[in-house]
Amino acid sequence: MPGMALALDTPVRALPGIGPSRAQALLQAGIGNLGELLKKHIPFRYEDRTRFRSIAQLRKDEEAVLRAGVKSIRRVVTRVKRFQILELMVGDGSGWMMVKYFNQPYLHKVFAEGQQAIFFGAPRSDDYSPGLVLQNPEFEILEEDAEDSVHIGRIVPIYRKVGDLHPRRLRRIVHDVLQDLSDQELPEVLPDNVVRRYGFPSRLESLRQVHFPEPPEGSDPAEFLDQVAARSTLFHQRLIFEEFYRFQLGLLVLRSRRRLVPKQRRIEVNQSVREAVKSVLPFHPTGAQKRVLKEIVDDLTSPKVMNRLLQGDVGSGKTIVALQAQLVVMENGYQTALMAPTEILAEQHQRSYSRLLSETPYRIAYLSSNIKGKQRREALKTIASGQAQLVVGTHAVFQEGVQFKELALVVIDEQHRFGVLQRSRLREKGDRPDTLVMTATPIPRSLALTLYGDLDMSILDEMPPGRRPVQTVLKRGRNRDQVYQLVRRQLAAGRQAYLVYPLIEESEKLDLQAAVEAAERLRSEVFPEFKVGLLHGKLVGAKKDALMREFAEGKIQALVATTVIEVGIDVPNATVMVIEHAERFGLSQLHQLRGRIGRGPHESYCILMVEGRLGRDARERLEVMRQSSDGFRIAEKDLELRGPGEFLGVRQSGLPGFLFANLVRDHKLLQAARLEAEQYLEQLEREGGTNPRNLARLIQRWRREFGLSEVG
Ligand code: ADP
Ligand code: MG
Repeated sequence: MPGMALALDTPVRALPGIGPSRAQALLQAGIGNLGELLKKHIPFRYEDRTRFRSIAQLRKDEEAVLRAGVKSIRRVVTRVKRFQILELMVGDGSGWMMVKYFNQPYLHKVFAEGQQAIFFGAPRSDDYSPGLVLQNPEFEILEEDAEDSVHIGRIVPIYRKVGDLHPRRLRRIVHDVLQDLSDQELPEVLPDNVVRRYGFPSRLESLRQVHFPEPPEGSDPAEFLDQVAARSTLFHQRLIFEEFYRFQLGLLVLRSRRRLVPKQRRIEVNQSVREAVKSVLPFHPTGAQKRVLKEIVDDLTSPKVMNRLLQGDVGSGKTIVALQAQLVVMENGYQTALMAPTEILAEQHQRSYSRLLSETPYRIAYLSSNIKGKQRREALKTIASGQAQLVVGTHAVFQEGVQFKELALVVIDEQHRFGVLQRSRLREKGDRPDTLVMTATPIPRSLALTLYGDLDMSILDEMPPGRRPVQTVLKRGRNRDQVYQLVRRQLAAGRQAYLVYPLIEESEKLDLQAAVEAAERLRSEVFPEFKVGLLHGKLVGAKKDALMREFAEGKIQALVATTVIEVGIDVPNATVMVIEHAERFGLSQLHQLRGRIGRGPHESYCILMVEGRLGRDARERLEVMRQSSDGFRIAEKDLELRGPGEFLGVRQSGLPGFLFANLVRDHKLLQAARLEAEQYLEQLEREGGTNPRNLARLIQRWRREFGLSEVG
């Protein structure tokens, strides 16, 4: 494209060879202009085409790039299964070998005798041909331009195909675009001092090198290639850092903007408030609980609106901290709400709050989708009039029609699945209430910064005294009798047990059936002398509530349950948990489940039942569970094993789609970028740059860049 002035917003249509149909295919892949081409379609791997492995040097099962001539082509159809095999005999001067493609008949037309081609794959031996064989290797045919320096004699990028645009074609296009772009098109976005300190190359240079890496003079080629593969060259790092920096800056700007307007209410902590708060405590708070309560109360009494995340391991005692903060608010004459993600949990909170507040003058209103008609109208009335100072419930608390008199504090319990996007919808009630979000289990730092980077953070890093780690063992199905013996002994001693069955969406019906049948059998054959209950998500709310109450009161000894018990349930007398098909659960989920036991003074046991052959990940997960009870460590490991999307367990996770960055691989850069963004904003504040207008502009740009249009 010589002579053409290219800019990042030049549409791809303007490129030679891109007609309407290819432009359409690119657009479908999210690539409308050159900026998107360069940033959204980065190579998924690189190939060193400076030195090819010779056929003579190939080793079995070791990936290699070779360049060879096609000597002969043969099509074979196997008699038994009617496989179509295309067999190429290829040579490179050092020797000959067979390349085979299975059931891709069109390749017959692609290859021709006398061609030069590049193959990438791991050679194997098979029973049908002598020596090593390449099966279905990736390939690229070298055309007339066989010595073209774009495709050969360098480390080349390998792109995913888009429409009918093959990697080779894309390589040429990207190469030419990068040649023709100038630095003016990609102005620096990081503060000068950051660029200098880190020694970052320019954005254009970084993009060039990410697409076409060139080993620096005197570097070791193999080492360089490793760096490229690990995305750890300075060029990769620069783009990753930049992405994190911009995202973090956006979050911090959000936070800064929320603090611009002081809140109108006044909350004080005097002696009588202090005494009221103390009076509800059934035990001595841990040091961590005291520290965190102070962090929260400092926010409540400050003129800035609180947006705080409280992280703590399962059983670290988040609830009582929340209740104390809420008491401070009520003592000052304001209302407060507590929202839980499930009906069961909301009802449990309702029960324990009623108990803890029984000696106080405060009245609780309960809201959920099960509360209808007259009951709901009554509740709404007490909320609107201020007769109810505390509202407990599910998401129903935030539905339309719920009008508070003076809502000052919202506590959202166990929302480890709420991203910045979802949360912004919850802030509409009242005069910007202070908000405390509590996670069910710890979240790895990199994810916490991404999902909750607009919040301040409090951490409960101490367990209430007297907790003993839960003894965790792995058992096979054939040892089931032995496992039931253990359960029986515990039940006979007056303790209670959970028997957990997996229930996943894809096989919901079968899973549910398995749980129902198991409950039947346990009830009639295994533990006929005890009361066995069955709890699952398909039960109506009232039934669930009744079951949970019976279990909490000890009227049911063994509770068969699908994972609806996962979050937050608190029955300290339960000391055994048997988790069936433990290999099917994620690490954090297992940790969360296990957190239901070991809550009282008695020794507790978690038995992970496994079936069938375990994959490597499953084995590793279960081993971590056996060895560790540290939720922070388990969360990091879980993230490492499953990646952020799976870790969060939902598609709508509120995670931004990073182009270069990877939260697991690049967590150190994320922390560095966060620090730099904080410092930049502090400087901006000092210089008076954090006025509403500036912040609004920054937020708008940020939303567009990360596709978070709804975040407010
Ligand atoms: P989580 O942080 O998982 O929500 P909870 O708030 O449900 O934990 O508390 C777990 C259990 O520990 C509850 O039974 C609670 O009453 C108890 N607990 C909380 N704090 C303390 C403490 N300081 N001393 C003794 N028991 C405590
Ligand atoms: Mg809890």
